[in-house]
Amino acid sequence: MDDLYGRVVTYLRVSVTDRCNLRCRYCMPVDGVRFKDARDLLSWEELLRVVRAAASLGVRRVRITGGEPTTRPGLVDFVRAVAGTPGVQDVAMTTNGMLLADLAAPLRDAGLRRVNVSLDSLRPEKFRELTHFGDWDAVWSGVEAALAAGLHPVKLNCVALRGENEAELPDFVELTRERPLHVRFIELMPLGSSHAWTRERLYPAAEMRARIAERFALEPDTLEGGGPARTYRVPGFAGTVGFITAMTENFCHNCNRVRLTADGELQPCLGSLLAMDLRGPLRAGCTDDELRHLVARGIRAKPERHLMEEYLQETAGRLMWTIGG
Ligand code: SAM
Ligand code: SF4
Repeated sequence: MDDLYGRVVTYLRVSVTDRCNLRCRYCMPVDGVRFKDARDLLSWEELLRVVRAAASLGVRRVRITGGEPTTRPGLVDFVRAVAGTPGVQDVAMTTNGMLLADLAAPLRDAGLRRVNVSLDSLRPEKFRELTHFGDWDAVWSGVEAALAAGLHPVKLNCVALRGENEAELPDFVELTRERPLHVRFIELMPLGSSHAWTRERLYPAAEMRARIAERFALEPDTLEGGGPARTYRVPGFAGTVGFITAMTENFCHNCNRVRLTADGELQPCLGSLLAMDLRGPLRAGCTDDELRHLVARGIRAKPERHLMEEYLQETAGRLMWTIGG
């Protein structure tokens, strides 16, 4: 379905929980996180109703995210139901990978096609420091399991952080030499618990490219379903390298997505405060047709561009773990 600016919305990101088994420095504080009351999260069936409504309006790709989606029991059955929804052609997931080693094959069997694993450091101690509870070996086993299960593409999401992991960027590129791993370097966005921490650590894509150019020559390339990333490859390497540049090179004019939070808000843009409550109508017994109209209204409300630069100036914007990225 078209929005007001001629963009066709074909992509829904569904956050299935706000809980997480990690505490990434830029995302969630270690103490004092106030999660939603479990009763306020949509049930699997409620989430599925929204997916069906969105699919009837032209959504073809669904990405499951969180919080950490693998921490919610029942995920495999939900993936199966989403994959079987008429109109849905592609089901993907973004995960921190901690529980992926055991889940990759069942998820693949249920209809998951692709996975993004978030990994901000290749050094186990640094990874632990950035995530508080992260176990690098467990995540890497998850990456291996995803490749072995035939999920494709397997992408590695790496948020570039000034003063933390920027020296490792070329090492991530090196990972794409032999194996079909697709690294995505992401600019830090002001969507976490500590704005001060974020402001100092934003590492712009231009600097990322310069850092990588010290070791590798990247050439423009494409990857099916590459999303908002600008994609490159080192000639002859098996995988690709992409940059998600929401802060310094925004891609709003190409944006094709809307988001559903775990507690049932349809959010037309990650970088605006617009939201439409679907949980109320769902629990008040709305019909499928009424739900479809609400989702259509949410899609039409998509703003022309995000306001994240403005968030950087403020103390409170949105919180990524409640939305799912
Ligand atoms: N827990 C899962 C994970 O980490 O992959 C899924 C949810 S997480 C919110 C989705 C993605 O958003 C991750 O790749 C994470 O690194 C990224 N992310 C979280 N906070 C961010 C921020 N402030 N700026 C940029 N990316 C962020
Ligand atoms: Fe959890 Fe993902 Fe946020 Fe890290 S980025 S704290 S893994 S939701």
